[in-house]
Amino acid sequence: AHEGILRRQSARESAARTYARALPIVPVRARGLTIEGADGQRYLDCLSGAGTLALGHNHPVVLDAIRKVLDSGAPLHVLDLATPVKDAFTTELFGTLPRGLADRARIQFCGPAGTDAVEAALKLVRTATGRDGMLAFTGAYHGMTSGALEASGGASDVRVARLPYPQDYHCPFGIGGADGAELAARWTESLLDDPKSGVPHPAGMILEPVQGEGGVIPAPDDWLRRMREITAARSIPLIADEVQTGVGRTGTFWAVEHSGVVPDVMVLSKAIGGSLPLAVVVYRDDLDVWPPGAHAGTFRGNQLAMAAGAATLAYVRENGLAERAGVLGTRMLAQLRSLAAEHPCIGDVRGRGLMIGVELVDPAAADRPGQGARLVSHVPVPSAGGPGTPGGSTGPLALALDRSPRPLPPAPELAAAVQRECLRRGLIVELGGRHSSVVRLLPPLTITDEQAAAILDRLADALSAAVR
Ligand code: PMP
Repeated sequence: AHEGILRRQSARESAARTYARALPIVPVRARGLTIEGADGQRYLDCLSGAGTLALGHNHPVVLDAIRKVLDSGAPLHVLDLATPVKDAFTTELFGTLPRGLADRARIQFCGPAGTDAVEAALKLVRTATGRDGMLAFTGAYHGMTSGALEASGGASDVRVARLPYPQDYHCPFGIGGADGAELAARWTESLLDDPKSGVPHPAGMILEPVQGEGGVIPAPDDWLRRMREITAARSIPLIADEVQTGVGRTGTFWAVEHSGVVPDVMVLSKAIGGSLPLAVVVYRDDLDVWPPGAHAGTFRGNQLAMAAGAATLAYVRENGLAERAGVLGTRMLAQLRSLAAEHPCIGDVRGRGLMIGVELVDPAAADRPGQGARLVSHVPVPSAGGPGTPGGSTGPLALALDRSPRPLPPAPELAAAVQRECLRRGLIVELGGRHSSVVRLLPPLTITDEQAAAILDRLADALSAAVR
């Protein structure tokens, strides 16, 4: 059955099919972290439906919530009418929102994917401001419908200005750390203050607090606060895309909470539906500018997804799973950094909570001229310096550039080999980043210490096998 299903589906499905290529398995049963294939093989699933399964597969509270709706005789589809299920979901969700938004929040149910909610958010701020341009970031991923694509890095620019997203390993200024992030912020300010830049009056700014598909790149909290300052000072609505970072994944319920930033608009999907499709936009009441019917759609607020989602949100809250993700993530990152000490092909290890990325590089290139260090657990750059700084007369920036580690060339083939070796060892991992050279771990927030250790053991074995 297993081979037949794989063969038929690969013949019938479009050439655009993605995950199924690297992961030729046929899941038939799943519980928690574990997936079982039709061939009887068991896998630890660190893809988690691209970060959707906060509680893992088929968590009992999620199944119970779905069963309760099914058994109650409640309608499964009533467009956007008010129902007890929707009431419970909205109450639970509003209870989790950052202070400053919770008390003045409005919710728009969108249909059913993250990209639909991104689309709604972009449209909402365009309506609210009467403006058109949008600020987005290099490496961003917001979805695959046209507006979301426009705002994603790599797509062609239409109405979207691309700003530098701060990062250590691939810092656009070659500096990284707080100085690199501050330079990125100043670049943004200078574009906004330049009447000829084409974006002096954008309709909004959209950002991910941690870029996921872009290669697991956490934005520094200071930079996020700077973006909040810069947008607030210019009355530009700030949209936080928490589709992947939300519901505890990064160590706080919403990732913006690390920085204390309160966005004007939040885009939420994935885990909020407790494994079923659900996507919403939440925003402050003064942005509630759409007249009735301005954002319609048949499938907005699936009843089963809202029930599963409410149960998930409540479970994460009641069981402190965000804090747990933070603690476990910190430990796993430290262990991966130790692993990097043994593997020169690990260029960088980064992440926040249980959103973890291991960037694979070509270590041989380190010997070539112009190539710098690998592994960045970032070395802070002294920002004071001034004239007389050793190494030159150009001051702090020269010093910073001098010390900055330069990324080694990405190793996408090695990453693909690691993914294959992981699969052979019963571990499902996802690849990401601009060059698909970042191994991503997005396990459920419910994993045990033993499961976390098993994940890292298998990954370490797979790495050793892949470089051999
Ligand atoms: N925004 C972010 C940050 C995402 O990670 C994703 C999906 N990976 C999306 C939006 C799009 O969501 P969907 O695939 O459900 O359309």
